[in-house]
Amino acid sequence: MAANIIDGKAFAAKVRAKIATNVSTLKMEHGVVPGLAVVLVGEDPASQVYVRSKGKQTIEVGMNSVEHKLHENTSEDILLALIDDLNKDDAVHGILVQLPLPKQLNEALVINRIAPEKDVDGFHIANVGLLGTGQKSMVPCTPLGCLLMLRDYHGTLSGKSAVVVGRSNIVGKPMAQLLLNDSCTVTIAHSRTKELQEVVKQADIVVAAVGRPEMLTGEWIKPGATVIDVGINRVDAADGKTKLVGDVDYESCAKVAGAITPVPGGVGPMTIACLLANTVTACCRINNIPEFEGFSS
Ligand code: NDP
Repeated sequence: MAANIIDGKAFAAKVRAKIATNVSTLKMEHGVVPGLAVVLVGEDPASQVYVRSKGKQTIEVGMNSVEHKLHENTSEDILLALIDDLNKDDAVHGILVQLPLPKQLNEALVINRIAPEKDVDGFHIANVGLLGTGQKSMVPCTPLGCLLMLRDYHGTLSGKSAVVVGRSNIVGKPMAQLLLNDSCTVTIAHSRTKELQEVVKQADIVVAAVGRPEMLTGEWIKPGATVIDVGINRVDAADGKTKLVGDVDYESCAKVAGAITPVPGGVGPMTIACLLANTVTACCRINNIPEFEGFSS
């Protein structure tokens, strides 16, 4: 039987609608408007597209959006001074520095300069530590989006076996931690994992975050498993154009899986929705307002 499609685009639209309601509640009952500041250094075309999209969606849900575009050759001192200003700015509740940064800038130093409570990407070392110890933190947006989709589809995840393929700091590791915090039995696989196909085949939940086009095929998947495809890969299409594919071979996996996310229209739209959700959460925490339910880990 064909797998159920987990429609990330539709789910993200629902999440954004809820966020818009929460934002108007914050305005009317507490007189505060959540604000997101995005910092872009340089001219990377993909980053420019992401930043535009983030700004547009931030405004659409009624929040304030500020963009700081800095020159490719910006020095570390200038960037750190901007972050210091944004940390102090009461109208800014979320700060996102678009990665990757030009090579003269030390990414870890820059990210760790953001006040942890405004770190809506969840990459600050303090948030990594809080997540790792099961405490309230800001959670990286892509894994949070995957978790919300999994919870929405399954209800409880407790007791399920999950394999996360990929161990990056921004996707694989936090994803595994979130699944563990939801009481899954978690395996993290990576490029050195032996018998990878067999490892993946044990899982009730497979999260693929590898960056290799269509690497996981139907033979890897346990019948009925849920497959979350984080991958975004641009490949040549038959018509001479390029197309987006995931890390999962959708066609063969959809014949075996119980549920699967498509690419595009799966994890991608949830990532920005979770950035907005994190900004609302940060605004609530900073202002000592009870948090809205449904958007945290
Ligand atoms: P990274 O390149 O940082 O990490 C890739 C991981 O995959 C590494 O841990 C690597 O293992 C592992 N890996 C690579 N090749 C293999 C292999 N042959 N077998 C097993 N494991 C392998 O990527 P990211 O985590 O940043 O991103 C992963 C994918 O998700 C990419 O396609 C990216 O574009 C996409 N992405 C999508 C987002 C969204 O919003 N939908 C957001 C962020 C990323 P090792 O550590 O051993 O090298």
